[in-house]
Amino acid sequence: MHIIDLSHALDAQVPACPGHPIFACTSVETIALDGSGSAVSALHLGSHTGTHIDAPSHFLHDAKSVDELDLSMLVGPAVVVDVSHKQARQSIDVFDLDEVLDSLDAPSESEPTPPRILLIHTGWSRHWLDYATYSTHPHLTPAAAEAIVHAGIRVVGVDTFSPDPMGPAAPIVTSSTIDSTSAPEPEPESHTTPDPHPVHHILLGAGCVIAENLTNLDQLLRADHDSDSNDHVNSDLPRPNASKWMVSLAPLKIAGCDGAPIRAFAWRA
Ligand SMILES: [Zn+2]
Repeated sequence: MHIIDLSHALDAQVPACPGHPIFACTSVETIALDGSGSAVSALHLGSHTGTHIDAPSHFLHDAKSVDELDLSMLVGPAVVVDVSHKQARQSIDVFDLDEVLDSLDAPSESEPTPPRILLIHTGWSRHWLDYATYSTHPHLTPAAAEAIVHAGIRVVGVDTFSPDPMGPAAPIVTSSTIDSTSAPEPEPESHTTPDPHPVHHILLGAGCVIAENLTNLDQLLRADHDSDSNDHVNSDLPRPNASKWMVSLAPLKIAGCDGAPIRAFAWRA
């Protein structure tokens, strides 16, 4: 079975969000020269270090912690959306996701259970070791988060620090539809919300789980394209990328915790 690893390695270079613990793995016992004894290390990390998931209790009182999550939610078919054309701090809006979310609408005979895991490929994982650039990742708009919830998605995975923008210099700009029949009006330039984490609140508030700092999502798309080119006869299957991959995003079972590292990986359905 061909496995695609979707996790970053945990090492001393792992970037951490401001205020989060720095990762360290230090030796506390070693194997002696004569082969006796064993190697044991102490781990120091945050619950949101490296590739990990956010449980609803990350942002909400009395919400599910990571050990209370249903594992069946975190292992299953996934759909991948390619938004790698997005620039730094650019928003990912509803129209960027429409095609993929629409494909989830109706269960079919071949796919009675549409994917409930959405992976968003921005390509930003290539900046993983460059904190300044990595933290300028594209982000979802609140409207896109609402559309994701409405489409029945239960898990959203991103190859960035967060589905929300990082830092103070990232006002959330929502796209607006311009009505060409009406006279142009002075439009508000942007809509800035006082909540710095609106996407987290929408997704986690709806009982969804967020996977962050994924990597190698491009490999899922590339393999899809390769497969599509061999499969051109099957033109009655318009679903983009749907249900071709299974993923596992299972976390460490840390009692009462708001998040946990995951070893994320994908394999062919
Ligand atoms: Zn997190």
